[in-house]
Amino acid sequence: MTELIFAALSLAAFFALAMNRASFRSWAVAVAIFTLALQIGLGFPFWTFLGWLIAGLLFAASMPELKRQYLTLPAYRALKGAVPAISETEREALEAGTAGWDAELFSGTPDFAKLRRVAPITLTDEERAFLDGPTEELCKRLDDWHIRHELRDIPDDIWRFVSDNGFLGMLISKEHGGLGFSAQAQSLVLGKIASKSASGVTIVMVPNSLGPGELIEKYGTEHQKAHFLPRLAKGEEIPCFALTGPFSGSDAAAMRDVGVVTKGMHEGKETLGIKLTWDKRYITLAPNATLLGLAFRLLDPENHLGRGEEVGITLALIPTGHEGVEIGRRHLPAGAAFPNGPTRGRDVFVLMDWIIGGPDRAGQGWRMLMSCLAAGRSISLPATSAACAKAMTRRTTAYARIRKQFGLPIGYMEGVEEPLARLVENAYGLEAARAITASMVSAGEKPAVISALLKYMSTDRMRACVNDALDIHGGRGICDGPSNYIQGAYQMVPVGITVEGANILTRTLITFAQGALRSHPYLFAEIEALQDSDTDRGVETFETLFDDHRAFLFANVTGALFHNVTFGAFATAPQNAGDMKRWWRQLSRASRSFALVADLTVALLGGGLKVKQKLTGRMADALAELYLLSSVLKRYEDDGRPAADRKLVDYCARNCLARFDAALRGVIDNFPARWAAWIMGPLVLPFGARRPASDKDAKTIVRAALQPGAFRDRLTRDIYTSEGTADATGLLETTLEKVVACEEAEKKLERAIRQGDVKRFHDRDWIKEAGEKGVLTAEEARALADLRDMVARVIAVDDFSAAELELKPNEEDANQKQHIAAE
Ligand SMILES: Cc1cc2nc3c(=O)[nH]c(=O)nc-3n(C[C@H](O)[C@H](O)[C@H](O)COP(=O)(O)OP(=O)(O)OC[C@H]3O[C@@H](n4cnc5c(N)ncnc54)[C@H](O)[C@@H]3O)c2cc1C
Repeated sequence: MTELIFAALSLAAFFALAMNRASFRSWAVAVAIFTLALQIGLGFPFWTFLGWLIAGLLFAASMPELKRQYLTLPAYRALKGAVPAISETEREALEAGTAGWDAELFSGTPDFAKLRRVAPITLTDEERAFLDGPTEELCKRLDDWHIRHELRDIPDDIWRFVSDNGFLGMLISKEHGGLGFSAQAQSLVLGKIASKSASGVTIVMVPNSLGPGELIEKYGTEHQKAHFLPRLAKGEEIPCFALTGPFSGSDAAAMRDVGVVTKGMHEGKETLGIKLTWDKRYITLAPNATLLGLAFRLLDPENHLGRGEEVGITLALIPTGHEGVEIGRRHLPAGAAFPNGPTRGRDVFVLMDWIIGGPDRAGQGWRMLMSCLAAGRSISLPATSAACAKAMTRRTTAYARIRKQFGLPIGYMEGVEEPLARLVENAYGLEAARAITASMVSAGEKPAVISALLKYMSTDRMRACVNDALDIHGGRGICDGPSNYIQGAYQMVPVGITVEGANILTRTLITFAQGALRSHPYLFAEIEALQDSDTDRGVETFETLFDDHRAFLFANVTGALFHNVTFGAFATAPQNAGDMKRWWRQLSRASRSFALVADLTVALLGGGLKVKQKLTGRMADALAELYLLSSVLKRYEDDGRPAADRKLVDYCARNCLARFDAALRGVIDNFPARWAAWIMGPLVLPFGARRPASDKDAKTIVRAALQPGAFRDRLTRDIYTSEGTADATGLLETTLEKVVACEEAEKKLERAIRQGDVKRFHDRDWIKEAGEKGVLTAEEARALADLRDMVARVIAVDDFSAAELELKPNEEDANQKQHIAAE
């Protein structure tokens, strides 16, 4: 018994010391006490001698001189050569954003109070009124079919409406004539518009994301602010921003567009300026733009600026009417109809003052872009993706309840329940992640890693939502026309996947391979110390960091083992976590596992991190699941913990953790250093990966979503749904209500049809017959007749005469085609 108590106490002391990052000295004392106790009890066998030896070594390691000589310097020398250099563009990208909740997840011991401090969705009265007023009105006016098929352009009246109502200047401060809206308000406005027209939202989204407006607001000279911002806010200037070129897509920093500082003539006077040559493509709004934001590499061979020949990436503002600027033709991205096209220029002379921020900002373009992107990527695409998930869920749950086959609403069939459950889960989770991230940005954060993971995760899940919606609608979703509410989103999905950092790159390179550097508590600082040109200072800084890092690693090894074998029962949860305490504990437990695997991945892959993208992609997925789970738990609290949402939160949490485990399993199974994989496996997944939510849980959440009411409204909040039945989305809602109201009468009718008392063929009126035969009351018959007409409209698809579908190329197009053929 005494032995057992001694063993238990020793084990507890070991875990407590390790998990609390004890110093060498504390370890030395602990091992000495342990060994002494052993010796008192057992005499002096060989391994007691071993205990004293370990205690002695630990004590020696705690002596500063010995530690420096035998631990720090060998590690410093070994790592100095192994750690890859960080390029200037990488450094600028790394330093551009902020680390927040991502760093907490990387720490293995997230401080939940920090997450809880993120504000819930908060709008000013003015922002709320804008969402309910002009935004609602814009949605009513947007005719997606007219835009993407008939006009293949945005109509003038829509441009006028968005300009007159300030939509184009949401991010521009009030002082400069804009609306000065918070990130949360911008996100909600964009989401609502996107839920009506995925093409239409682009003209609002682009001026309110990375481009001239934001760049001038943050970095512009006083003159640029005073001149351009009010004009941009009122739509008197239409901006576009050109970074991508034919040879520089994902690797945008490798651009061949060049500006040379030189003297030239402007308005009859010789002046210092830049001779620019560029070739850019895929530029959204370029065909309509009056103001071109251009990224190029600036050279100064005659050293006019006094900063040597290579000044660096620079951003300038060029009026599209300026001599030599080529613009105007269009791409047709995925058949969607927003303006997008190339722009070129050769030896175009522009003034130094046209550099955003003036000549002082020459060469700072990459840093400026990365800084804006870190925040901007958190707004537009997550907003439109979450809105798409919510809209697809709302429309599809309605359709699945209305549409019957085999005598049943298709939503009641288990096969359909599966994709419906995915839709419901994604609608809840993406909205949760959108809202919390927008709140972080509203509070001034520039969450670089979070924005990257949210970008790829939300657009990827948007694609899954649209595909699920299409599958559930069958032919009704495929046949395009004015009544099709899926095809517009379907066309735009690849655009979201590709822009603002194509998803494959963002997942496999940016989120973890670069994210680890930013969010890891020690890594970036250690690399900086290793690369410090002052070796003494470098060694000193490195020693402190290395000490902390070693304790951090050991804490994660023991913490992961402890929490995984005890199923997270002792993991931390925030105060008053209520009915969600167990999921908070699981989040805490998972964060420990993540911290451990992340640390070993970074330490053992080192410079290979950028090429081992299948591993870094999975690590990004694991981090994304932790972020999603955090968001879901936070949303539940922010929404006031509605009892009706509890099962859905459980469902999301279970799936997040199952996907998290699967991602880590993939990393461990494929880890190149097999010895490390053998260690990580039992520590992280001692009992294997957790299971996803059950089929029964899926049925519960789907049945709740198929029912009109508060749960469904909360799930699909802040999207546009028309009120009347003239529009397909309004018709769906009204019909859904009617389906529910007529359920009992329908059952009676179905029974009579099954029994052969009433015949349902196109050549007869079976409802009238059921009324006449007393199967239905007169009132029931009237309601069912109405419902039959409404259902017929809901399931109807559009058709066209051959002439309506004929493409009519105009003369200019025909000439252009000949021109291309001749080339
Ligand atoms: C509709 C539309 C609108 C756009 N609007 C604008 C705009 O307004 N302004 C602007 O400047 N640009 C714009 N873009 C450009 C957009 O940002 C680029 O398309 C994007 O950066 C990808 O470049 P790319 O298409 O040349 O693909 P590529 O760079 O050729 O990439 C092809 C594939 O390889 C992957 N890949 C590339 N490098 C890596 C790597 N190191 N590791 C892993 N995977 C990698 C990518 O993820 C991608 O899947 C727009 C593009 C589209 C389609």
